[in-house]
Amino acid sequence: MEKQKRYLIKTYGCQMNVHESEKLSGILEQMGYTLADTETDADLILFNTCAIRESAEQKIYSHIGELKKYKKQRKDMIIAVCGCMSQQQKAAENIMTKYPFVDIVFGTHNIAKLKELIEKRQQSKKRVLSIVETEDIKERDGMPKVRTSGYNAWVNITYGCNNFCTYCIVPYVRGREVSRPLSDIVGEVEGLLKEGYKKITLLGQNVNSYGNDLNDEDQTFAKLLKAIDNLPYDFWLSFMTSHPKDISFEVLDTIASSKHIMHYLHLPVQSGSDNVLKAMNRRYTASDYLKKIDYAKNKISDIEFSSDIIVGFPGETEEDFNDTLKLISKVKYSQLFTFIYSKRRGTVAEKMENQIELKIKKERLARLIEKQNEIATLEAQKYIGKTLEVLVEGKLKNKNKLIATSKCGKNVQLEGSDELLGKFIKVRVESSKLTVLFAKEEK
Ligand code: SF4
Repeated sequence: MEKQKRYLIKTYGCQMNVHESEKLSGILEQMGYTLADTETDADLILFNTCAIRESAEQKIYSHIGELKKYKKQRKDMIIAVCGCMSQQQKAAENIMTKYPFVDIVFGTHNIAKLKELIEKRQQSKKRVLSIVETEDIKERDGMPKVRTSGYNAWVNITYGCNNFCTYCIVPYVRGREVSRPLSDIVGEVEGLLKEGYKKITLLGQNVNSYGNDLNDEDQTFAKLLKAIDNLPYDFWLSFMTSHPKDISFEVLDTIASSKHIMHYLHLPVQSGSDNVLKAMNRRYTASDYLKKIDYAKNKISDIEFSSDIIVGFPGETEEDFNDTLKLISKVKYSQLFTFIYSKRRGTVAEKMENQIELKIKKERLARLIEKQNEIATLEAQKYIGKTLEVLVEGKLKNKNKLIATSKCGKNVQLEGSDELLGKFIKVRVESSKLTVLFAKEEK
């Protein structure tokens, strides 16, 4: 009997990549591969890479280099590299030249072709490179999936991005924005709810511009949210990533009047300074942003926000940075994802002259984190003594505790049996530490 082939996928970067690895696993399992435990028992190792930061790319190159020893022991092993990093012509050529033990290099547009690429490699005995760009999303949409996020299921609604923020490589590696038909998305979501998934997260680089390319007033992001919200199941609906210039008041009203949409919004502001926002090509001002935040707070009393902030963008002055500190104090985010600006090859900001010294960037980052920790601690304490509805999503590693998420996106830990997994329950918050709430089931 032929030995069953085994695969391993290493995923870098964002949720988009996590979901694409679920699709790549789907193809491999359809081909008869099963999941390997370690590199040594894998017949195929696939790296799904990220290009968002140059430091991350260097790490990925060194991880690819480490695979050489496995290939030496097992000549028939297939090593493949895909994702945003390999979609870049230069990086793809670099892998082909400097890492001769890599068999297949392919880009973000060609993930649905994995089976063909493997067969081509096996039949021709030649290394394969495929980074052809296409805006035809039918193949990618129809890919089988091996879902790995517990009770949550990711669902793509758009691919690519049209925004060209000056620090970002995404539009260059994922192409122009293409939206899936609304009926296809609703159909996929309904299928997942029938299967028993409890949380659906819609995915796109900018979910709020969903439908702009479809030129159909019945296929907008607000209409999509409403259509999913009307499905007769017990579930929560979430989405990422939102762009502050595109999230509309209609979408905020839709969240307010919905039954299933989470009262949690990740709305990346990036900076609180209008000068920096302009240099980043974000196309909103701090005051435009705050208007939307205030509107959402007025309409949805328990809404929580999180955001991404880049410190040390070229030209950022002390005054600009202070505007960011002021903005985070006004919004009172429950969570912030903070980054030091680093040059990204091929972007507009890479060529900006007024780059900031690393020492200053680090010092600003430390001040930002300190301020945010104060805010998050106080914000979390407000929940003590309150009752929240939570979805129990998993168990804490090495501890007999359950982890759950509230409808407003707070992380909650509680004691309880495994029977609670996948259930919506009411809990009473007893204490908090930074962003985490500790609670007991309310019976
Ligand atoms: S919206 Fe801006 S930051 Fe987000 S993916 Fe598009 S270009 Fe990058």
